[in-house]
Amino acid sequence: MTPRNPKAIELWQTAKAICFDVDSTVIQDEGIDVLAGFGGVGQQVADLTKSAMGGKVPFEFALSQRLSLIRPSRAMVSKCLKAHPPRLTAGVGELIRRLHGRGTHVYLVSGGFRQMIDPVAKLVGIPPERVFANVLLFNADGTYKGFDPTQPTAVSGGKAKALAQLKNRFGYRPLIMIGDGVTDLDARPPADCFIGFGGVATRDRVVAGADWFVTDFSELDQSLI
Ligand SMILES: [Mg+2]
Repeated sequence: MTPRNPKAIELWQTAKAICFDVDSTVIQDEGIDVLAGFGGVGQQVADLTKSAMGGKVPFEFALSQRLSLIRPSRAMVSKCLKAHPPRLTAGVGELIRRLHGRGTHVYLVSGGFRQMIDPVAKLVGIPPERVFANVLLFNADGTYKGFDPTQPTAVSGGKAKALAQLKNRFGYRPLIMIGDGVTDLDARPPADCFIGFGGVATRDRVVAGADWFVTDFSELDQSLI
């Protein structure tokens, strides 16, 4: 699709760093919904995820609400990953390889859990220090304890916070955010450009607010010089 913001293509081509959302962007699922389904509380949690993504409920509240329904143990998370390994979205592996080849820094910025995001990062060759995600906490016996409230992504506006940290620390300009959700859209600013991704799910606010809305990663790949 032609970008709504005429500068979007140039910003994309000259980006120093690109931040990808994970769920319904880099992978075809919502990790928390997969975990909930595995734990037998799929429907209740899917309803809460929907309202969280529509921006109706504060993120941290929606997250703790969903987690207290799932109560994921360390063993449950690893069994779930074995039963449902992450499914990459078509073209994303190639695109990230190409970006790495150009020297662009690529980050994953997710409201999901590091325990489930790290395997995705590994698949696409992103080092763990370039992953922002929430951290599940377990008791000594491996049962569910909670999540780390100090991660930037643990609160509403968390992705914007994570990107601001990156910009301050490394001076990335332009910095691009790509994702399917309203929380991704809300990360511009500090992102200089927001690319909406509709290859898995399409959300009206994201379509309307994106500098550039794409439904296939090959559109982005082809626009790299
Ligand atoms: Mg997403």
